[in-house]
Amino acid sequence: MSASRTGLLITLLVAALPIHAEQLLIHGGRLIDVAAGKVIDEVSVTTDGDRIASVTEGYIEPKNGQTVIDLREHTLLPGLIDTHVHLSTVISPTFFMEKFVMDSADYAFRSVSYAEQTLMAGFTTVRELGDQDYNLTIALRDAIENGYVKGPRVFTAGKGLATTGGLADPTNGLRRELMGEPGFVEGVINGPISARQAVRQRFKDGADWIKLNVTGGAINPGRGSLGVQWQQDELDAIVITAADYGMKVAAHAHTVAGIQRSVRAGVRSIEHGTFMDKATAKLMKDRGTAFVPTMTAMKWLAAPDSDADAMPAEVREKVTDVGSQIDQTVRMAYESGVWIVFGTDAGVFPHGLNGREFAYMVGAGMPPLAVIQSATIEAAKLLEMADELGTIEAGKLADLVAVRGDPLNDIALLENVAFVMKDGEVYKR
Ligand SMILES: [Zn+2]
Repeated sequence: MSASRTGLLITLLVAALPIHAEQLLIHGGRLIDVAAGKVIDEVSVTTDGDRIASVTEGYIEPKNGQTVIDLREHTLLPGLIDTHVHLSTVISPTFFMEKFVMDSADYAFRSVSYAEQTLMAGFTTVRELGDQDYNLTIALRDAIENGYVKGPRVFTAGKGLATTGGLADPTNGLRRELMGEPGFVEGVINGPISARQAVRQRFKDGADWIKLNVTGGAINPGRGSLGVQWQQDELDAIVITAADYGMKVAAHAHTVAGIQRSVRAGVRSIEHGTFMDKATAKLMKDRGTAFVPTMTAMKWLAAPDSDADAMPAEVREKVTDVGSQIDQTVRMAYESGVWIVFGTDAGVFPHGLNGREFAYMVGAGMPPLAVIQSATIEAAKLLEMADELGTIEAGKLADLVAVRGDPLNDIALLENVAFVMKDGEVYKR
């Protein structure tokens, strides 16, 4: 091969690769070091492509080719992580009608805007815990990763799992001809055998996590109990099978029996956990199970910003209990030493309002720094991504956000993130 043809080949190969050559220098007025639990004043962060290259105290001068970003009036934090969202969902008074009138493409395009709203709110990573349209967010995850649409990095469970008639059985409340008999493909299981099948189906579909709906839910149409809907052998089969495939399990559970069975089976996180008692908190602490309180969703259901955003009336009645209970539960869990990780249940309330969770968690007695850690380093641990995400450190992925002022003094500032960087790329400035 001639030298010029070799040169052309190299040029073509390079052109085919994504270019991440940009080098940025950020001057931040303050940086929250979530690993050490301290604040560093006047700091310089450099990036090289999608990675953080250095973190230095003081404002250093730019080197050749570095673009300077002036955030000297701002506080820098690691990219925020919401470990409980539903990017294909938004609750409205007509929510239950959607499946009769919306096609998969309608859900998909709508979810694109929700993904972008989430990223612009400062959430550079999310865990998706239950698709409205089968496995839509598996495709959404890949589309974001490929750069087709803007959104956070997604770890997804795809379609959440239910038992017959339980929360997330997609045919609940329908007339008999429409009910059919959904099975493990649709995410409905009965007994350990179909539990295993459902996990393997999710693996085949490309999911990262398994989501279980172990108790009834506040927004379940039809019969509304919050009681337990899974038996121990079914939960055990799920967790053992998921572990074989390198998948982790998250369990929606409001009541004590549901939480305890899930924890004993070995799930990684309990979602909502509303009626957790002290004995259950101790069990979770002993087992190292994470608690994801989703306070924003519960507050929203009890008192939405407007009627246009409200739930159907029959659901509103079920949720008042849940909204008032969660403050006490988070306070008790924090005092008991339970591992609390940030997650909102966005989709139950409008996407992009995820930052409201911070003030709710502080209102329930958690120190502001602990709440910020729960949305960064602790969330990264739950996702088993702590080597790559969760802190602003040389070598990690360059995910960082900034807010004007000091969120440790005023936690609600995190509802207005001014600057968003993901993978070294600036999305909001
Ligand atoms: Zn949820």
